[in-house]
Amino acid sequence: MRLVCTVKVDASRMCPGANRSTVQRPRASTLSFGRRPDHKDEMCLLLQSAQDTKGIRYKVVDNITQIFAKFINEGKCTIRLKEPAHDLIIQADALLLKSFLRVIKLAFGKNSPEPAVKVPVLNEKYFRPKVQTKYSVTSNAEYPTLQGFPRTTQHLSIVDLQRKSFDRQILRLNQLRSLDLSKNCIRSLPVELGSLPNLAELCLAENQLGKSPPKSWAWLNGDAIKKNLITLDLGRNELTWLPPYLGKLTALRTLSLNNNLLSSLPLNIGFLSSLRFFSLHENLLDMLPGCVRRLRLETINVSGNTFKPQGFEGCEIDPNILEVPDLVEIAAKTVLRSRLRYGPETIPRGLVKYLDEALYCECGEACFKYRLRSIMMFDLRAIAEKCVLSMDPRIPLRCIFCSERCRYRWH
Ligand SMILES: [Zn+2]
Repeated sequence: MRLVCTVKVDASRMCPGANRSTVQRPRASTLSFGRRPDHKDEMCLLLQSAQDTKGIRYKVVDNITQIFAKFINEGKCTIRLKEPAHDLIIQADALLLKSFLRVIKLAFGKNSPEPAVKVPVLNEKYFRPKVQTKYSVTSNAEYPTLQGFPRTTQHLSIVDLQRKSFDRQILRLNQLRSLDLSKNCIRSLPVELGSLPNLAELCLAENQLGKSPPKSWAWLNGDAIKKNLITLDLGRNELTWLPPYLGKLTALRTLSLNNNLLSSLPLNIGFLSSLRFFSLHENLLDMLPGCVRRLRLETINVSGNTFKPQGFEGCEIDPNILEVPDLVEIAAKTVLRSRLRYGPETIPRGLVKYLDEALYCECGEACFKYRLRSIMMFDLRAIAEKCVLSMDPRIPLRCIFCSERCRYRWH
């Protein structure tokens, strides 16, 4: 029987008081259990790794002093041996580790010298453990509900299964780079998704995220996802609205929002400084936010939208502009001016929301309640090398200015 695992060998009991060099770094290993080929009455454990393919053989009978299995459900255990005085600190898939230990225990039977199960002869040839990095589920019958996904999974696809909820097992896959959940019926995603440390590609097309409440978009505000996400596909989700967190995905290169019911975009979308491929076709957009002028794209696809400025074309002064700003606005501006890394743990939650909803003038100044609004026509060819359009490349932009001076300067 063979277990693919990570093992750290702790030999510090052999020479107490020695420094930490007696504890080996964790190694990807295989641990085998069986009878010695040259000495069939003797059962042993064989620990092999790529660095040591010959391996170390440990006698089992009267040699295992203890098995520490308190954290077996997390896939961790330690086997303490008498000779040599090693502790094998093992980490493996929890279910596989449990059955491995069970076989070892059964092999002895209680107080009986004869094993309760037949123990095969050990195959001492080293097999490089196969590391599965791609996992694809194509039918509900093959869904790994019990055994879970391999922890080594980097690319996971669960497509067209009509699943109604996000499987929380996915949140344990720390090596996950790409996740494809398209063609399901998922309505909301857990906040922890934003903390997966390596997630760079996320496809959520053809789900039902349009039915999710605003608070279930908090995953997009996770520190890891803001820094790492490169591709995001939210196409065909009946979206009528998008959260302002979207504008904070600093690494995002490809964004697909096609075939939704969007009539506007978050006003900070222009802050996606890495964005190169932007697809917005088949929505209900009548204008784009003014800050799209900051984008530098390779391709933008806006076909299948109406783009008709609602109401007037010109400038509208928000009546509030003449008032004295309130304390919330002053506090928010102070946070931005001093470039504080803000979050609900450092400033009041209400202020975080206020800051997240800030609009920005072309000069870079944040505008809150007190601002000027203006609609101007803009040629999309100025920001993209290739434009896919179904009409005039000049489309209306809804612009925000902090002052009259800025409006004259940018208009
Ligand atoms: Zn300004």
